[in-house]
Amino acid sequence: MFKLVRGFKDILPADTALWQHVEGIVRELLEDFGFSELRIPILEQTELFARSIGASTDIVEKEMYTFTDRGGASLTLRPEATASVVRSYIEHQLYAKDPVRKLYTIGPMFRRERPQKGRYRQFYQINAEVFGLHDPRVDAELILLLMTFIDRLELSGIMLHINSLGCPECRPRFKDALKSFLAGRSEQFCSDCLRRRHENPLRIFDCKVPACKEATMEAPSILDDLCEACRAHFENVKRSLDGFEIPYQINHRLVRGLDYYTRTTFEVLADALGAQDAVAGGGRYDGLVKALGGPDQPGVGFAIGVDRLMELLAGRAQSFQKRPHLYIAALGPNTQERAFEWVQDLRKNKVRTEMDFQDRSLKSQMRRANKLGAGYALIVGERELDEGAAVLRNMTTKEEEGIPLDDLVGLVVKKIKPSTAGSR
Ligand code: ATP
Ligand code: MG
Repeated sequence: MFKLVRGFKDILPADTALWQHVEGIVRELLEDFGFSELRIPILEQTELFARSIGASTDIVEKEMYTFTDRGGASLTLRPEATASVVRSYIEHQLYAKDPVRKLYTIGPMFRRERPQKGRYRQFYQINAEVFGLHDPRVDAELILLLMTFIDRLELSGIMLHINSLGCPECRPRFKDALKSFLAGRSEQFCSDCLRRRHENPLRIFDCKVPACKEATMEAPSILDDLCEACRAHFENVKRSLDGFEIPYQINHRLVRGLDYYTRTTFEVLADALGAQDAVAGGGRYDGLVKALGGPDQPGVGFAIGVDRLMELLAGRAQSFQKRPHLYIAALGPNTQERAFEWVQDLRKNKVRTEMDFQDRSLKSQMRRANKLGAGYALIVGERELDEGAAVLRNMTTKEEEGIPLDDLVGLVVKKIKPSTAGSR
């Protein structure tokens, strides 16, 4: 028997209604904040990710699904979306008419990490990116959007961490300070950290090895080394967040797993998730568009991990499943014939209707109506057909009433639609 590839998963019908609900909420919110959807492919040239994410990151060093295409090109399943969005912004000159662009995209990402709770090799992200604006209020507004989304999902136990990673002017200074800090402590860090310490010492803060985490506790803080412009930017982000009354924690060790970040970085953590507790992360990447061959336009964005969000919402999946409004229990071949027409007419009127195609007993049809969670059942046998009226039963209250067959569809629509509009 064939099995799923390790680290991959199916999202089953029991859960997809909840996924659709969550995606619906976020799309509406993003569009209210002025974002438009961009759909990008899941494959890109390998070099795009190597150049943007950074050669000495975990993603590029060991997690990408890279293969050689039959034509000889090196291609990679996208491990994240920002690189592709930037590629698209540049390739289609989306900046030409107006450099200010707010784009979002939803879809799967691929990383060959060790599969465990909250960590898959194919996982889903909701990404939002804003191009063309340096203003710190844009960073804060993006965080507001993210936290509003979390709020609308009625999640609790959520924390926001923020930091600033400085810019090409002040970060080198901090890198030097960090290198000196590391110089005397090589025995405390893992081989990855040691290998990267010259090129990219900030990576030690993103290392998942417990001993490395422990060893960074006394490391210097980048916030002490920010230049005046970066300091002011960070202060302004905080001021806006205060204005929105969004609580946050300053975390000077928050560097994130991608090298392109500058200035603001942030992460949303959920208590209930345990070890893999980040549900979303993001930040500013002012140098990325230019580094990938585009104009010198700044950017800021976030990525929400949908799978982890779903874990937080798991208990609610059932309440989002779509149930039929009506189940027609039709007995006898002539009645089934009529019922089949009613089903189609009712569906045209947006009444979700099901029927039995096996002409089973009333008892088994009613059992099925119950199992499907139908709101109403319409019971009609040969006798009802002769008498010209069917029985409509409210499956919750058990109340029953007669419905004349000559205007059955019209009456049922009137009866059911108002009370079920917007219901599942
Ligand atoms: P983590 O620190 O947990 O590895 P990350 O910093 O690598 O996360 P990002 O690259 O910023 O994550 O991606 C944003 C979000 O995508 C994360 O906050 C998380 O919710 C989700 N995510 C990242 N990797 C995975 C994965 N392998 N499986 C499921 N979700 C993931
Ligand atoms: Mg990671």
